[in-house]
Amino acid sequence: MADTMTKAQRHAVMSHIRSRDTKPEKLLRSLVHRQGFRFRICRKDLPGRPDLVLRRHRTCVFVHGCFWHRHAGCRLASMPKDNADYWQAKFERNQARDRANVRELLALGWNVVVVWECRLRHFGEADLERLCQLIREGGSLAEPRLAVIGGTPEEFGQPARPASQAGSAQMRAETGTEAGSEAGTEADSATCGAGLAEHT
Ligand SMILES: [Zn+2]
Repeated sequence: MADTMTKAQRHAVMSHIRSRDTKPEKLLRSLVHRQGFRFRICRKDLPGRPDLVLRRHRTCVFVHGCFWHRHAGCRLASMPKDNADYWQAKFERNQARDRANVRELLALGWNVVVVWECRLRHFGEADLERLCQLIREGGSLAEPRLAVIGGTPEEFGQPARPASQAGSAQMRAETGTEAGSEAGTEADSATCGAGLAEHT
């Protein structure tokens, strides 16, 4: 893919990668960790390699960069002026992949929470509270659901659902045989950073 890039395209990609050096994923991890949740990061065996995986709560959390994942109506999701067709096609692929990942995770019984990058950068108390609540109730939902902080499930091809519908799926959450092995964050964020490549 890189071979087909013009100089301008490469510049656009690199400047966006640099802007990601602020590492929204790290910010999210530290926020959630400070709230007492324990999780694993970047599990490669799950669709889309979720940024956080909280098995006890049957919940995967993603931070989505607004540019690459095309946050609807977001100023960070600008369209590069050169080679619009190239970018359009790339973005459509990214979005199709995002929708497929969400579908697959839900089908596997995982709840999915997506936090948009722009919202994370101005994360307020209410946002953090909502995120924590979404995680906590994840293990007791009747069926898996997608929640989006800073956007809507419809962007991912999912119907909007009530935010809270705690129910009877506690049993499913308890069926894991390795309870307690979510010892904490794994310090392999370097391998996770390689995920950038899949966007370029
Ligand atoms: Zn955004």
